[in-house]
Amino acid sequence: MSNTEIIDILELTAKLMELHDGDAFKIKSFQTAAFNLDKTSEDLTKLSFPELIKLPGVGKAVAGKVLQIVETGRLQDLDDLLAQTPEGVLQMFRIKGIGAKKIRMLWRELGIDTIRDLRLACESGEIAKIKGFGEKTQQAILDSLVFLENQTGKLRMDKAEALANMLLDVFEKEFSRVEITGQVRQKAEEVETVQFVVSTANPVAAFAFLNSLSYLEQNVIESTPFVWRGQASGYEVMLEIVTAAPGQFESQLFIHSAAEKHLATTGSTGWTLLQTSMAFPAEAEEAVYQRAGLPYVVPEMREGNHEFVWSQNHNPNDLVTWDALRGILHNHSTYSDGKHSLEQMATYCRDLGFQYFGIADHSQTASYAHGLEPYRIRQQHEEIDRLNEQFGGSFRILKGIESDILGDGSLDYDDEILASFDYVVASVHSNLSMTSEKATARLISAIQNPYTTILGHPTGRLLLARAGYPIDYKAVIDACAERGVVIEINASPWRLDIDWRWIQYAVSKGVMLSINPDAHEMAGFHDMHYGVGVARKGGLTKNMTFNALTLKEMETYLQSRRQRI
Ligand SMILES: [Zn+2]
Ligand SMILES: [Zn+2]
Repeated sequence: MSNTEIIDILELTAKLMELHDGDAFKIKSFQTAAFNLDKTSEDLTKLSFPELIKLPGVGKAVAGKVLQIVETGRLQDLDDLLAQTPEGVLQMFRIKGIGAKKIRMLWRELGIDTIRDLRLACESGEIAKIKGFGEKTQQAILDSLVFLENQTGKLRMDKAEALANMLLDVFEKEFSRVEITGQVRQKAEEVETVQFVVSTANPVAAFAFLNSLSYLEQNVIESTPFVWRGQASGYEVMLEIVTAAPGQFESQLFIHSAAEKHLATTGSTGWTLLQTSMAFPAEAEEAVYQRAGLPYVVPEMREGNHEFVWSQNHNPNDLVTWDALRGILHNHSTYSDGKHSLEQMATYCRDLGFQYFGIADHSQTASYAHGLEPYRIRQQHEEIDRLNEQFGGSFRILKGIESDILGDGSLDYDDEILASFDYVVASVHSNLSMTSEKATARLISAIQNPYTTILGHPTGRLLLARAGYPIDYKAVIDACAERGVVIEINASPWRLDIDWRWIQYAVSKGVMLSINPDAHEMAGFHDMHYGVGVARKGGLTKNMTFNALTLKEMETYLQSRRQRI
């Protein structure tokens, strides 16, 4: 059992206690413990009772609950609460903008206990009339319901990739050739179908093998004699396994790794890629492009957008890779809401082979995340100077900050403090519901601040959970171009923000992009894998990737930028 799973149980218990009007003190103790346990780097399953109560915010009662969860995998309090909570009421916790108190009111006072009834009540305007709700909340509930409805059956990139890799291990033992295809191979940020092509001369036997796996369930109606469709237990996402005769494998692999529009592209021979691949089904992808008289395109870019225009000036080797990255910017430490210390984070970064580590803890307004007051910044800078001396010349910690963009677009410190950093990531974390005009003006104002180096997660979106605030992408990118501000590709699989569809426009304006993991712990650095995936999908080249600059280049860049202020 992981820390996250334990914390999720505590959090859900607190929510349900609140829903059932439980004891306020007990609720608070669960919430405080969950909040604090989320920050610990200890493995909770390994701690004894005395060790647990030494952790900040963990009292004796909650420590006992944690032990119960670790030992039994469940919590009696939660089981009791769940037994008293209708399924539909439980689902209401997924709706943004209403918490336990409002849900209790909907349920207890209006008798609404299904999502469907809630939607009808919103549509008829009843919800707006309830005291404490109003038109705005009613609309927010409706928006959230529509959003949730669109999400069912989708997986974030990281989860889809994990599922695909797990199945790949199993399939590789059975089939002479297997490849992950479709959206996972093409690095889609949200995946509806996890797809494979397997090589087999006997589809019936292949289906029998798949159906012998207890965790796979075939959807017979959706399947065809050659394509197994169904689900893996615990996942709503569609699972599709295409069987290909050995001589057809290459062709099936190619056809299932490209958008239709891409396959319809005609080469110098007058044949489309699809026609070429079908006519020469045993030829590998590179050979198909060559035969069709078209430049080779990597799977992640085969979207039918502008990949062949891109190919006129670039080749696949120009695309950014993990190995091309030289440093990691935008990270957090225990100074704000990170799990690991500055030294741990920096040392791990160096051990991964990078040349610099940029710390960008939260700024003072972000009090929920222990944002840094000026005296904490001074402490951090002293520690960085000390550590940099130990590291010597080959590795460096850069002094950054993730400064909140306040409601009016200003940054969160005065100029004197802003001037003490090597670089500033400017991000919005509060007042997220804005019109496009307001959000765009707020971002542009922050971009125009001479101290802003990087625009952080431009829309604030959380994939499959929260749509970002709407922005005028062109206006924001144009402002970055004018001010020489770098745009972040936030590599957290939750965000992947800026959207890869805007990378080419940014690059065409001369704007560089920085692949930032927004790591809150050492393992978080590895999220750059997803950032690199979507960056390549958007056609980002090494020479337009900000953190592909070497330490020396980065230092020169940051110095010359400061001199212009
Ligand atoms: Zn942030
Ligand atoms: Zn951050």
